[in-house]
Amino acid sequence: MTSNFERTPLALPNGESKVLLHSCCAPCSGEVMEAMVASGIDFTIFFYNPNIHPRKEYDLRKDENIRFAETFGVPFIDADYDRDNWFARAKGMENEPERGVRCTMCFDMRFERTALYAHEHGFPVITSSLGISRWKNMDQINDCGRRAASRYSGLTYWEYNWRKAGGSARMIEISKRENFYQQEYCGCAYSLRDTNRHRIATHREPIKLGVMYYGTERDDAAK
Ligand code: SF4
Repeated sequence: MTSNFERTPLALPNGESKVLLHSCCAPCSGEVMEAMVASGIDFTIFFYNPNIHPRKEYDLRKDENIRFAETFGVPFIDADYDRDNWFARAKGMENEPERGVRCTMCFDMRFERTALYAHEHGFPVITSSLGISRWKNMDQINDCGRRAASRYSGLTYWEYNWRKAGGSARMIEISKRENFYQQEYCGCAYSLRDTNRHRIATHREPIKLGVMYYGTERDDAAK
């Protein structure tokens, strides 16, 4: 089932016909996927998110994304979970705030692998669901996407603003309709640590993995 919203058809840059979509999770990519399906765009999902910690959370997010991709018959590339490399690159940035240099490294790492896969497998365009979240800095993400694409001649980063024209609201609508798993922190061990510190300081329970789903009573009560 897709959204009833009447969409303006999207077009890929340079008149290209296929794109490699880096996806961070089902809630963020749901609207992006539905928009591409509605526009008849040929796309493949690339799931490369070695930042997600711990493994249980990684599997929850990935499995939700696979489930939704299967409903559309969209190809899903399950890339490495090379978290040791992620932790090595994050060394010295453990206490950086969200949206800081650790996040630039994290976006760079994910886009670099996406661009490499696109280059090796004949995708002329890459994009990502990362920017749809209002918690993220879109300029920071777009800088990383452009930087990664510029490594290969003929590869373009599609800088589409997925939040506009009601995209952010539809992201939530689709997540509730599909009862997606609702992650409660950005993804890495440090964002989990910092979110829990904030919760404890504000007299809230620490995060319990695998509990929150969009459209459930607890989700509705939390709004
Ligand atoms: S807070 Fe999010 S974007 Fe930043 S390093 Fe952690 S997982 Fe990556």
